[in-house]
Amino acid sequence: MNDCLFCKISRGTIPASIVYENDRLMAFKDIAPKAPTHILIIPREHIATVNDLHPTQATLMGELVLTAQQLACDLNLSESGYRLVMNCNRDGGQAVYHIHLHLLGGRTMQWPPG
Ligand code: AMP
Ligand code: ZN
Repeated sequence: MNDCLFCKISRGTIPASIVYENDRLMAFKDIAPKAPTHILIIPREHIATVNDLHPTQATLMGELVLTAQQLACDLNLSESGYRLVMNCNRDGGQAVYHIHLHLLGGRTMQWPPG
């Protein structure tokens, strides 16, 4: 997936403000933050949407959530709270077709979402 924006960020060919990375995933600041804390957590593997997930990727997806949990703890968001979001396709509001978990915090979120 040479033309995928988040694959390029994962490979380092497009810069990002990286907050955590390992062999399997990467976390970086959203370029247009929607909250005081807005971090995207992506698998390095190209997976276009949640619809494309396979059961063999369950551990990887769990690691995305646990990375969000750890970052929220590091940023002192655990007690006040935060929101994890994964948008899927047009009605879900997905703009980048490489799955990513949004970690949003630092303000009170609205419900239901728009
Ligand atoms: P989504 O609508 O769920 O696909 O979210 C895509 C997110 O990627 C948006 O919040 C964008 O602000 C963010 N984004 C787009 N380009 C970049 C980039 N180069 N670096 C960091 N975040 C980006
Ligand atoms: Zn990709």
